[in-house]
Amino acid sequence: MADDRLVARLVASTCATIERHAEELTALDQAIGDGDHGTNLKRGFKAIADEAADYGRMDFGSALRKAGMVLVMKVGGASGPLFGSALMDMGKIAAEQPRTSAQAATLLQAAVDAIKKRGKSNIGAKTMLDVLVPVQAAVADSGDIARIRVVADVALEATRPMRATKGRAAFLGERSVGHLDPGARSTTLLVHAVCDVLEGI
Ligand code: ADP
Ligand code: MG
Repeated sequence: MADDRLVARLVASTCATIERHAEELTALDQAIGDGDHGTNLKRGFKAIADEAADYGRMDFGSALRKAGMVLVMKVGGASGPLFGSALMDMGKIAAEQPRTSAQAATLLQAAVDAIKKRGKSNIGAKTMLDVLVPVQAAVADSGDIARIRVVADVALEATRPMRATKGRAAFLGERSVGHLDPGARSTTLLVHAVCDVLEGI
């Protein structure tokens, strides 16, 4: 049996955080990209929120696959296909919601693999992977929520001194140094939104 309340809560929490932080994400993307990351994600997550009731009736895997397809279709820019394929690939291996941190780590590994493949990227290129990879490792290690939050925040901050080698920021070369990566920030926001749900907030 799927816990439909979990899916509904995840949809509500993630969509709300993107809505709340859209301007901040856009400002980050103005510094080292084309200034659309907030509007891109806001459009995609609004399309998910608009169908929140449908997601609430779906099993975990179907909800992930559907949300992934919506992001691929609605979010212009690199982040839509990247986040979208991450969700779709998680949905392919998740029949049910994860019950243990080991199962959650397996799901997150599928997300990491999808982004690496689709983005032809890896850690150290100043992207969303620089948060997602350490978060996946922290979930695999212990699953301790407070620690996962700290790992995400520290990993986000570590993107600041990086020089981008993937995405639009790579065109800036050295000038990308000294700014947070927008996709790493949105990934951190999503990690906290999921943690909020898991803590029952
Ligand atoms: P675009 O760069 O097309 O305008 P967005 O602004 O929505 O798309 O998203 C930019 C974010 O996408 C970057 O901050 C980075 O985290 C992520 N990104 C871009 N290209 C790649 C890539 N090849 N691999 C992983 N992440 C990437
Ligand atoms: Mg952009």
